[in-house]
Amino acid sequence: MNSLFIEFRDPLFSVIIFFVLIFIIAFFSYWWGSFKSKRDFRHLDKFLRQFNSLPSQNELNVLITSGELSEKSWLLLANSYFKSGDYEKSIEIYNAILEAGDKSNYREIMFLLGRTYFKAGFLERAKQIFLEILKNNPRTPQALHYLLLVYEYMRDYNSALDVLEPLNELNKDVTADSIYLKCLSILNDVKLSAEDKSHKLLEVYKTTHQLTYMIFEYLFRVNPKLAWKHFDSSKSELLSDILWHVDKKDLDLDIIAQNGYLRELYTARGDVDLAIKSSVFELNILINLGGKVNATMSFEYICESCKQVYPFAFSRCTNCHAIDTSRLEYSLTKDYHRDFSEENNSFQ
Ligand SMILES: [Zn+2]
Repeated sequence: MNSLFIEFRDPLFSVIIFFVLIFIIAFFSYWWGSFKSKRDFRHLDKFLRQFNSLPSQNELNVLITSGELSEKSWLLLANSYFKSGDYEKSIEIYNAILEAGDKSNYREIMFLLGRTYFKAGFLERAKQIFLEILKNNPRTPQALHYLLLVYEYMRDYNSALDVLEPLNELNKDVTADSIYLKCLSILNDVKLSAEDKSHKLLEVYKTTHQLTYMIFEYLFRVNPKLAWKHFDSSKSELLSDILWHVDKKDLDLDIIAQNGYLRELYTARGDVDLAIKSSVFELNILINLGGKVNATMSFEYICESCKQVYPFAFSRCTNCHAIDTSRLEYSLTKDYHRDFSEENNSFQ
């Protein structure tokens, strides 16, 4: 029985104690390392989380009044949120500065707040802010300009046209805005028929020779015959994408035959055979391919003023608010429409 127990003075006992101690030390060191790394990780997580959410409105007020950060620093922070599209945070900061800050830059901060409301799509709030600025400072062209945009986006064209007068008195060029608003009010007038709208738009075009794209886009859509009748061949390149999408049955072959660019465009599309080459690279490729390859033209629109690129046509740039600054860019793509029709035909 005694042989089952190891005696206290047995050297084997010391060896076992030694290994047990090593095991205990290794276990505690592993536990401590794992605990520490978890604690560090949680600490870093907590630290990073504070950048994902802004303090509440009350906390912001306390922070701003405490003066730990200057008003300029808060404005820079709000502006960086505005630029990154985080309008909610930008609005919270502007409101907190207006509530808690000194009143020295009140009008400027109100303007920034109104601009952010406008960009975020809170048009009614933006309108109230700009009207309040103008109540005390009627000669503020920036506020007038944004008020005009707000009315335009709200489709209140008469109010927008009213804003042009004070802007004009401040020596701001409002010609383009005036023509654009006139066209918009015609296009959105529910009492007018498509024919009346076409004739009214043509009247505007004949007297101003501006907004060609906007006016002819509508005319080619609702009345291609009228559009061809008043078509100015010198504007062919400007209207390339509209012309490219005109239905084959609506083409005016006499006008096409008389204009070099139109001959190239419709030869490239495969409707006529009146050109053997083109100075436009994409059209030249399509003319030379002669419809043997499944390719077509696609278009992009660049604002000449701010260089913003859009996948769709625009009359007022949503980025810089300039009017009629769209420039076309061509590219060649696969013709999915032809692919689809060929697939359908194969079942017949
Ligand atoms: Zn622009």
